[in-house]
Amino acid sequence: MSKSLKWFSALFFLLSALSGVSAQDSTQPVELTIKVDPDNRALTVSADISKSQMLPEMRAFSIQSSYSRSVNSIRVKDFQAFDENGKEIAARELQPGEFLIRGKASSIGYSVDLAEPADISKKAHASWIGDAVGVLMLRDLFPDLKSPVPANVKLLLPAKWSVSTSAKKAPQGFYRVEDLDNSIFLIGNSIRSQTSTADDRKISITISGDFLFDEADVLEFSGSILRSYRSLFGSRSDNSEIEIAIVKVSNAAGRWEAETRGNTVLIVSGDMQFEKPSRQRLHEQLRHELLHLWIPNDLALSGDYAWFYEGFTVYQALKIGLAENRISFDDFLRTIADAVDLTSDMQREPFVGASKRRFSGAKVYAESLLIAFLCDAVLMEKTRGKRSVADLLAAFYRQHKRGANSSEDGNTAAVKLLTSEPELKAISDSYVTGSRQIDLRPALTVFGLVQVRRTGNTEFLLKAKPTKRQKDLLDKLGYNNWRKVRKDRK
Ligand SMILES: [Zn+2]
Repeated sequence: MSKSLKWFSALFFLLSALSGVSAQDSTQPVELTIKVDPDNRALTVSADISKSQMLPEMRAFSIQSSYSRSVNSIRVKDFQAFDENGKEIAARELQPGEFLIRGKASSIGYSVDLAEPADISKKAHASWIGDAVGVLMLRDLFPDLKSPVPANVKLLLPAKWSVSTSAKKAPQGFYRVEDLDNSIFLIGNSIRSQTSTADDRKISITISGDFLFDEADVLEFSGSILRSYRSLFGSRSDNSEIEIAIVKVSNAAGRWEAETRGNTVLIVSGDMQFEKPSRQRLHEQLRHELLHLWIPNDLALSGDYAWFYEGFTVYQALKIGLAENRISFDDFLRTIADAVDLTSDMQREPFVGASKRRFSGAKVYAESLLIAFLCDAVLMEKTRGKRSVADLLAAFYRQHKRGANSSEDGNTAAVKLLTSEPELKAISDSYVTGSRQIDLRPALTVFGLVQVRRTGNTEFLLKAKPTKRQKDLLDKLGYNNWRKVRKDRK
């Protein structure tokens, strides 16, 4: 048994998926103490589950989700369970991260190895500890309870290490977490935090590492982006503090990965070589991630429907970038052209329907981006530019906002949205519930664009003689924004 476990006297812990356990039983907070050991890239967890009505009845504790099992840098070990008298209960590991006990536990404890993944794509989506900084996502570190589990969490950190989180401070050094699954803690020995106000919300910004942008840029960009989305979608149901944590990684120039869980935006990124692109990249990251605070994080939808919201988020974030003059119209077209090239050799499958597929990955989101572009074109054509994908997303948000409705399946909801109008239905039938190769020609015709291939890459060019209507719609798409803004600033 590891020595590191001795420091907790009465431990204990969390969860599993035993049948017959109702959601209400889990509303008593679990008390968690997490001791972080950066030198060994490890932590020990002790949980007092005695007050919880449900957890002491559990016999199986599945701490590593199938997701975190796939991140091979996470490993749970030294699991122990104790009864109300502090006597150890025999535990058996069924498979990595899954433990079966023989008795009623009052506390549980274990250690978790959290090596730093070499791959940047994993650093934004799973827990890890590095030399000077670490990311703790509680969903990797506790059993998956299938319903929101509140917890009081205490972190024991080495000297000079500090923590940043959107969780509220509670008495006796604890943080109050409403949903373990949505909680992210950024820890480090040189992280810089500041709390401010953006778009009337308390916002906390934490940065690890030196970028060519600074905290003031993050605050300014966040404020204007949050304002744009709030005027588009309305206020979110959760007004609590927003946490933006940005972690610099070396040897990853130009690359970034991010995740927005609950009210926390975590961006793991290399910097760009020069200041202007560095700030542009930051704006791109925030445009995308802050939209997730509304969609999907504030929606009462279940299931994996990332194929829908990721592609449409990328698209809408591009349009906001155009509107705020952060990207050029060429950048906008370039992104769509890249999506065409990324998906051109794909054997398509329906997003929704009998043959269930995995809905993650760059290619899937690229397909969904193209579908968003098609939807935008038909809506703008139909209404002479008065409606667009932004209105479609806003309607989706209002319909499914948390608290407004009981939870529906996200895939069903997305298909309902995309079949709500005849022009959209044709797109949905072909590409969402159907598997036809995506054909952008109808959208290109709307805006007077043509698609060509040059040196192996797709490009979009303006038609030689566009009609008046095509010119108008191209303008409304954002073609002339750059010129307009330049003129306005004179
Ligand atoms: Zn996203």
